[in-house]
Amino acid sequence: MRMLGRHAMSESFSADCVSDGKNAKAIVCRTCGSKVLRPRLATLVDKEIDLPPTTNKSRASDERSDVGETLTQFWLVDDMFTFENVGFSNTVGGTVKYLCCADCEMGPIGWHDIGDRTRYYVAVLRVNYVSDGGRAAAGGGGTEHGGSGSFGH
Ligand SMILES: [Zn+2]
Repeated sequence: MRMLGRHAMSESFSADCVSDGKNAKAIVCRTCGSKVLRPRLATLVDKEIDLPPTTNKSRASDERSDVGETLTQFWLVDDMFTFENVGFSNTVGGTVKYLCCADCEMGPIGWHDIGDRTRYYVAVLRVNYVSDGGRAAAGGGGTEHGGSGSFGH
């Protein structure tokens, strides 16, 4: 059985994705598979945040999913540099930035109050998960583009 694309191992959120309140698996973009967070670096928290519908600038508008929604579970990350790759939207309403995929700009996948640099929230339902430390580059020899780098400015 074959799944779509080269990121066949990614899956949506389930109980298996949580271990001791941390993300048990690497967190990746739902659309392009770009890695957002390595395992065990984020803490699952209950928080209500309204996020607008996800959009993906690099794809047709039928990729647009859901309407805006209130999400109640987030991965809390306390340092921007913990992320492998993440993009930020323009400031919204003067106080908030949305997080999006650094590669394909699919988002918002999360939320950040610009007045608090120790809290970055990633919506558990808006990302995918990859087991085994994120080494999903099946076929061997795949060089991942390493940790830091494309961080936006
Ligand atoms: Zn992406």
